[in-house]
Amino acid sequence: MTDNTVNNFRIGVDVGGTKIEAALVDATGAVLNSARIPARHGNAAVVEDIVSVARQAAGTRFDEVSAIGIGTPGTVDSATGHVGNIVNLDVVSLDMGPEVSRLAGVPVHVENDVNAAAVGAAVLLGGADGLDGTIAFLNFGTGLAAGIVQNGVLLHGYSGAAGEIGHIPVEPHRLKCPCGQYGCLETVCSGAAVGRLWPNADPPMPDLIRCASRREAKAVDVLDMVVRAIGDTIQILAQSVDPRLIVLGGGMAKTGEPLVEVITAELRRRESQCRFLESLDLPARLRLAPAGQPVGAIGAAMAA
Ligand SMILES: [Zn+2]
Repeated sequence: MTDNTVNNFRIGVDVGGTKIEAALVDATGAVLNSARIPARHGNAAVVEDIVSVARQAAGTRFDEVSAIGIGTPGTVDSATGHVGNIVNLDVVSLDMGPEVSRLAGVPVHVENDVNAAAVGAAVLLGGADGLDGTIAFLNFGTGLAAGIVQNGVLLHGYSGAAGEIGHIPVEPHRLKCPCGQYGCLETVCSGAAVGRLWPNADPPMPDLIRCASRREAKAVDVLDMVVRAIGDTIQILAQSVDPRLIVLGGGMAKTGEPLVEVITAELRRRESQCRFLESLDLPARLRLAPAGQPVGAIGAAMAA
């Protein structure tokens, strides 16, 4: 960081199903400016939009940008920058990293959106200990997946599948999963799954918790099933990588404190039966993903 003060700016781009957001950040991850545009469909439009929103966020400082980081849905090969199957944007196969780099004239790094958000949450929530240790980010979105950041570095694994815990089957006699297995965690405790199990409201989770707190029988049953699956998810993550912080993110986490309360109650119930679990004190490690900040864009920039 001594002779590198000129090119310390990075741009993070968060590609979503309906919008693309970019943030200009400094070396610490602090946001200097941001921009967002509606997402268009198809390879060429996606590449053009990423570069265009990146230029908007950087403004006159674009020439001082050392790298662009992108977080995107789909199947991402972060080593090559290739992305497959961004369903909402009609992208089947795209060399996103190389094409954006060619158009923007800047090195580009691509991560999947959950991994990018994990880095962003780690930067924003790391506190006095910064990026030390392991921080796990649980994304309760359309699917269920985790991003794992160790001392500021993403854990990808051998094939890029580290953190894909949504397809661990824990209830063999329950619901069929689109992946082909039965009883995957994702069939019960992803945002989309809760929407199917509790179709009475949008968003479903705050309403489900409210109805369960009024002792409505059906709500109590559904919430119990969902929260047990969340408890299993958290234990699998916690007992595999022993993270310092467990961040709850994705659409369902916007439920906020009521969600933290029901998860805490479930973990405390389990602790009361298990001294080992009690010694881990997992409720103390739970955090909500920061609201009102471009977490995915910040993380994409810092992972670049
Ligand atoms: Zn599955």
